[in-house]
Amino acid sequence: MAAECLEDIDKIKDYNLKEGRVRLILEAVRILSDKWGEELSIIGSMIGPFSLAQHINGDNWFGNIFTGENIVPALLDLCSDFNTEYAKAMVKNGADTIVIIDPTASYELIGGEFYEKFALPYQKKIVDAMKELDVATVLHICGDTTNGLEIMDKTGVNGISVDQRMDVRTTKNNLENAVIIGNLDPVAVLWDGTPDDVADASMKVLNAGVGLLSPGCGIVSMTPTANLQTMVKCAINHQR
Ligand SMILES: [Zn+2]
Repeated sequence: MAAECLEDIDKIKDYNLKEGRVRLILEAVRILSDKWGEELSIIGSMIGPFSLAQHINGDNWFGNIFTGENIVPALLDLCSDFNTEYAKAMVKNGADTIVIIDPTASYELIGGEFYEKFALPYQKKIVDAMKELDVATVLHICGDTTNGLEIMDKTGVNGISVDQRMDVRTTKNNLENAVIIGNLDPVAVLWDGTPDDVADASMKVLNAGVGLLSPGCGIVSMTPTANLQTMVKCAINHQR
C-alpha cells in the first residue's frame, strides 16, 4: 500500500494485526515459543520505522525529507506506532527479544543530522515500549555505520548489530551502552566459506570484542548448515 500524500495516510491508518502476513508471523512466533521458548530466545523482528515509511512513500521519500514535507513526520508516526503495536503483539505471543531492522536509516545514506531527526525518536519509541515490558531490543542498520554508532546508542537498545564491513574494535570504542552483535560476512564466509573459515572469522570477531556472535547482515538461504553450526559452537566455546 502506497501513501504519497497526507490524504493517503487516512486510507492505511486502520490496519489490523489480526490480518494478512502480520497475523501469520504472530502465529509463527506463538508456535516457536510453545515449542522452544523454554530453551531458546525467541526473537521477533521488523522493518524499522524509517525504512518502512520509505517503502510506503516510494521514490519521493528522500526528496520529501530534504524539502521537509508534512507527510514525512506523519508517516513516521504511523509506522512507529504500528511497529510498537506489532512488537507488543509478538511479545504477547512469546517473543523475548525484538530486533528493529532499519537498513536505509544508515549513516552512509542519511548522515547524523537526519538520523537524529527522522530515525532516532521513532526507533526509541519502540525501544521505550519494550523496556516497559522488560524485553530486550536490538537495532540492525546495514552498511558502515561507524560514525553513526553514538547516535544509534541513544535509542537505548540492548544490542547493536553491525555490518561485516565494520571494524569491531573501532565499534567498541564508539559504543557506550549497547552490546555489539555481529559481524560475520554472510556471503564470503558463511555461505561461500568452509567450517574452518567460519571458525577463523568467528574467533577474530569474538576476540575483537563482539558480545554476541552473528552474521553481519541477512544470511543467504543456501548457507550450509555446518557453517552455521560452527558459528554457534565457536560462540559457546568462547563463553566458557
Ligand atoms: Zn544489514
